[in-house]
Amino acid sequence: MELGSTMRHVLVTGGAGYVGSHACRMLAKCGYKPITIDNLSTGHRWAVRWGPLIVGDIADHRLLVDVIAKYRPVAVMHFAALSLVGESGTQPARYYDNNVAGTITLLQAMQQGGVNRFIFSSTCATYGQVEHCPIAETAPQVPINTYGRSKLMVETILRDFVSAHGLNATALRYFNAAGAAAEDGIGEAHQPETHLIPLVIGAALGQRGPIGIFGDDYATPDGTCLRDYVHVNDLATAHVLALERSAAQDGFSAINLGTGRPYSVLEVLAAVGLRAGCPVPRKIAPRRAGDPAALYADPHLAREMLGWTARESDLNKIVDSAWAWHAAPMEGRDRMEVRLAV
Ligand code: UDP
Repeated sequence: MELGSTMRHVLVTGGAGYVGSHACRMLAKCGYKPITIDNLSTGHRWAVRWGPLIVGDIADHRLLVDVIAKYRPVAVMHFAALSLVGESGTQPARYYDNNVAGTITLLQAMQQGGVNRFIFSSTCATYGQVEHCPIAETAPQVPINTYGRSKLMVETILRDFVSAHGLNATALRYFNAAGAAAEDGIGEAHQPETHLIPLVIGAALGQRGPIGIFGDDYATPDGTCLRDYVHVNDLATAHVLALERSAAQDGFSAINLGTGRPYSVLEVLAAVGLRAGCPVPRKIAPRRAGDPAALYADPHLAREMLGWTARESDLNKIVDSAWAWHAAPMEGRDRMEVRLAV
């Protein structure tokens, strides 16, 4: 196949990461060829299975221009970002440099290469401490940490590129990504892991000590925090739908990706306990700073604009898929380097 002929390439920054790798899988299922650029700072070589991996940084303008010239992608999906909330507070320069300056470099390379369609991995962290749930896209965006501010800054920059240069940009604001496509060898593998579901599964499997429940005295039905867990495969599907919509629609759109049905920390523990066949070892821990009691999406706009609803995000399905991933032997994942010709 000639590069850039009939094969529809999509440039995926951060395609070796958690959501990015699942998006690559879905792109391939839908007839696209994902071209991953990833610096492997947090991503994994083994997660790049559906197209070439170019090991490099989004700060490298020359590299981006060359890759765009070579593959002539129809669009860019941009996942590459630092995403640890705590770390973002202690290393703001790194976060703004990577997440904001890196994105500007990428947008400039796209402009130079004549690529106009951009799907951006944004977050519900751009809303901050909300007064009211479910959260609609029109809610005030007042992020309370550096990570959320870096993502909001990019949304602002995208709006400016849309009006100045006719960029076509969609920001997808994820709620709590969870689950795995274990049958295809990908899943959540953060180092360090801070997210609830993998930690609870780790506790149930005896891979770590009891799970600490960060506060049981919130004003919620069972006293623990409510979150909107959305299966990573559903997120991936939404990206492909946004990509397809962007062929016919211009401008800037921001769309929530959540289910609108929140679960508490204790409900997550119960679902994992059900899967494990015994209660998950637990202890009550102090509240975590910056954790709102409830955070869940109004998902109507995604249905209206993308025709998307979460189909795999039932909590038991999420837990089953994550369980299949975390219970699988880790050996070999780092050796499972599927090297495809660049
Ligand atoms: N949580 C918890 N113990 C942990 C990790 C998380 O109780 O070890 C809670 C956390 O307070 C929040 C929910 O689980 O209410 C989801 O947290 P996570 O870090 O997975 O996602 P976040 O909502 O912070 O993006």
